[in-house]
Amino acid sequence: MAEKVLVGLPSGFADLPPGRELAVVLSTVDPTTLSGQDLVELLAARHRQTCHDQARQLQTIRELAYSRPGPVGGPPLRRTIVDPHADTEIAFALTWTDYTANLMLSVAFTVLEKTPAIAEAMLAGRCDLDKAKVFTTELDDCEPDQARQVVARILPEIARLTTGQLRDALRKLLLTIDPAAVRKRHDKALADRCVQHQEFANGTAAIAATYLPKDKVAAAFDHVDAIARATKAAGLDERTIDQLRADVMADLLAGVDPTTAGTAAAPATRKGVVNLHLNLSTLACLDDLPGEIAGFGPVLADIARQTAAQMAEHAQWRFSVHHDNGTLAAEGRLRYRPTTAQANFINARDRTCRAPGCRRPARRCDHDHNLDWALGGPTLIPNLCCLCRRHHRAKHLGKFTITRGPHGIDWTTPRGRRYTVLLHDQPPPSPTELGLAAHILGHHTPAQLRR
Ligand SMILES: [Zn+2]
Repeated sequence: MAEKVLVGLPSGFADLPPGRELAVVLSTVDPTTLSGQDLVELLAARHRQTCHDQARQLQTIRELAYSRPGPVGGPPLRRTIVDPHADTEIAFALTWTDYTANLMLSVAFTVLEKTPAIAEAMLAGRCDLDKAKVFTTELDDCEPDQARQVVARILPEIARLTTGQLRDALRKLLLTIDPAAVRKRHDKALADRCVQHQEFANGTAAIAATYLPKDKVAAAFDHVDAIARATKAAGLDERTIDQLRADVMADLLAGVDPTTAGTAAAPATRKGVVNLHLNLSTLACLDDLPGEIAGFGPVLADIARQTAAQMAEHAQWRFSVHHDNGTLAAEGRLRYRPTTAQANFINARDRTCRAPGCRRPARRCDHDHNLDWALGGPTLIPNLCCLCRRHHRAKHLGKFTITRGPHGIDWTTPRGRRYTVLLHDQPPPSPTELGLAAHILGHHTPAQLRR
């Protein structure tokens, strides 16, 4: 008999935990019968189930690593230590590279032995394999106790972090929990800094300087980027911004002025800019919270302080020191473009584009009027936020809407999904606060909290 196919989604579908029951339901859903709203729900459910199945796959990999060869169908013989050739067995069975097989073994041991809370989150459909891989790499040097402490702090937030945001959050937390260990690793890496070149089969080559201090890399990248963008803005250049940056960098390293060489149309209007975010209390040495370089992630407190001190001496670098709560204090002007002071404040407050999961640095973003200027939205800090060009277009052309909510920026997608992007450094609101906010705003579907 043909399998029964569901039309639409069964009631309570959104709350079905991953496992056998959800797997059965998923096998009967026909996506061609679903509305856009339901398709997002279906996608979310399939992802929950995938997370669950990925945890089961890791369990199998770990079990295999401890297994002993025996007769077919024989008893489950186990070793007390891991089979050193398990990676080869796995690579052969799944046509994986040795690299992938080894990585998956590391993920299995991290997730199941070092920090089992991650395995629980995967089984519950809250954490996928890509995020488990980020945990594995970032916690590699950590002692198990320390790793468990970090995981306990991050896991409640896992559903609202992309892999990029998770990496940043882990690095930041490690800087807070064990700055001495991070400092040691950092200094060790700095001592290994070098310039390398690599040749490719297609006749091209690469040059890279590795293990440099983040602030220097941020300033260098911004300098190259500024020349490339100025050239693009001058018009008539067919090259992409990536090609321009590469050409400019090669000229600069070769000791040639890119404008004389014809690579760039215009000289850099300024030196490279580093956007450093640092708490006032950290600058005053009252605590050692990590700073952050926009687009390059967190940095150790003392490095941030040192960078801030250098910046104070070199006027071409900018930095912003902010309070933990990012209190607003600004006067509005009846003009479309924010004043420089307003723009600086918004950039320091938002740090990145305010779309869920987007990490484009504020400096490369537009300042969006949450309530459109054309509709009477004022050019005031509370009505402005950073949006990258892509998300700015999504808002104006793609029917995504943005409103200011009590906890951050509230997004509603064309398919009716709601997401709240919390302010940086702000703890997520309690369920009571959320319920109250939903009641006041008349929302029937809860928003997913995101960073
Ligand atoms: Zn964006």
